[in-house]
Amino acid sequence: MLSVRDLTKTYRSAGEQVAVLRGVNLAVAAGERVALTGESGSGKSTLLHLIAGLDAADGGEIRLDETCVTALSDAGRAALRRDRLGLVFQQFNLIPSLSVADNLAFQARIAGRHDAAWHAELVERLGLDKLLKRYPEQLSGGQQQRVAIGRALATKPLLLLADEPTGNLDEATADDVLALTRDLVARTGCGFLMVTHSTRLAATLDRHVTLHAGLIR
Ligand code: ADP
Ligand code: MG
Repeated sequence: MLSVRDLTKTYRSAGEQVAVLRGVNLAVAAGERVALTGESGSGKSTLLHLIAGLDAADGGEIRLDETCVTALSDAGRAALRRDRLGLVFQQFNLIPSLSVADNLAFQARIAGRHDAAWHAELVERLGLDKLLKRYPEQLSGGQQQRVAIGRALATKPLLLLADEPTGNLDEATADDVLALTRDLVARTGCGFLMVTHSTRLAATLDRHVTLHAGLIR
C-alpha cells in the first residue's frame, strides 16, 4: 500500500550539506502497523514529512496505492494529505479556537468526508463524549492526543502517520493512547507508521524498523 524506494534527501544550509536519507526503502501493507525508531537526528521526521508530502524528496519514489507521491505538485500533495492520510504529531496541534467536537470533525469536513456515524463511533471509542464542548486548553495531554487521533482518522485515511505521538505523555497515558490507536487502526483497516523513541512501544506493533546512517536495514 505504501512503498518507499531509494529515497534520498539532503539538506543544504550555510554552505553545509547533510545527507539525511541516502536511499531509504520501506513498505507498509494495508492494515500493517510499523514502528520506526532511530537516534535523534537520524531523519525519522524527515522521512515522515516526505511521505506526507510536506516536503519534496531529492530522489527515489514514494507510492501510496496507485498514486506516485513524489510525482505530485504541491497542490496534489496537499490534496493527498487531505483525502488519504492521517497525521498525528507530538505537539497535538489542535485548533485552540475550536471545541473538541469541531476539532474532531474539522479534517473530515474540509475533505468533504464527514460521516456522522463514524464520528459518533470515534467519540465513543476515544472516550470523548463528556469533553465535546471543551476547548483544547481545558484538556490534559492524553485527552488532546485522543482528539488529534480521532481527527486524523475521521476521514478514514489509507495511512496514519504519527511522529512521536506519545512523546509528551507519561508512560501510563502513552500506553492507553497507543492501545486506543491500535484499536482504531484495526477498525479503520488503514496502515500505521509510527515514529517512537520507545522500543517498548515499538514492540507492540507488527513490525519494527530502524533508521541508521540514512538507511533502513
Ligand atoms: P529525527 O526526527 O530522527 O530526530 P530529523 O528528520 O528531524 O531527525 O532531522 C534529521 C537531520 O536533518 C538533522 O541533522 C537535522 O538537523 C536536519 N534537518 C532537519 N530538517 C532540516 C531543515 N529544514 N533544514 C536543514 N536541516 C534539517
Ligand atoms: Mg523527529
